[in-house]
Amino acid sequence: MGPAEKIKNIRLQIADCTKCKLHFSRRNVVPGEGPADSQIMFIGEAPGFYENEQGLPFVGAAGKFLDELLEAAGMEREQVFITNVVKCRPPSNREPQEEELDACRDFLEQQIAAINPAVIVTLGRYSMGNYVKKGKISMIHGRPITVNGRLIVPMYHPAAALHQPSLRSVLLEDFAKLPGMIMKAEEMHENDIKINGPAQFDNEEDGKVKRNNAQQLNLFD
Ligand code: URA
Repeated sequence: MGPAEKIKNIRLQIADCTKCKLHFSRRNVVPGEGPADSQIMFIGEAPGFYENEQGLPFVGAAGKFLDELLEAAGMEREQVFITNVVKCRPPSNREPQEEELDACRDFLEQQIAAINPAVIVTLGRYSMGNYVKKGKISMIHGRPITVNGRLIVPMYHPAAALHQPSLRSVLLEDFAKLPGMIMKAEEMHENDIKINGPAQFDNEEDGKVKRNNAQQLNLFD
């Protein structure tokens, strides 16, 4: 199965999902959108009101700012894959709960395995938490780490800048580094695949063990 078919298949699994209670209150699932061969993937927290209405990620106020950030960094939204750690809206936009994060984890891992992006940008702490267990976003934002041959770049969530305007320029500066990071990451990603083969995930059916070669990368400090 090619990446596009895999992404479609994951979308269908999400559409039928009843693994946590969020399925009772959702209007639409929000699996994510973008090209299945994107070099870069943005992972936010969870759909809000407008995302739940439309079934699309980041279409509300935070999404408008994300569009601005992408444009300022010379990227078009159509070129990047955007998704969330949780695929259904938590009622009243409350924070996602542990069992909801657990229920959705496999979908996100499948999406990452299918798209195989060279760079993953985590937006906010829930998304960052998949890669960085300890560490404050204020200290590590914009500083990439390598995991399984790809760059993980923790960033503030765009919604944070709507509440705290001083974060706008921080996000703009961090986004401005992305084109350079993509170029470097692609080289690294190609080499890693040549040396180690495609990254494996814990949940792969063949039971292979995840390669965890997480390390700090200082190239962009
Ligand atoms: N915030 C998110 O984290 N994701 C969305 O899709 C919208 C707002």
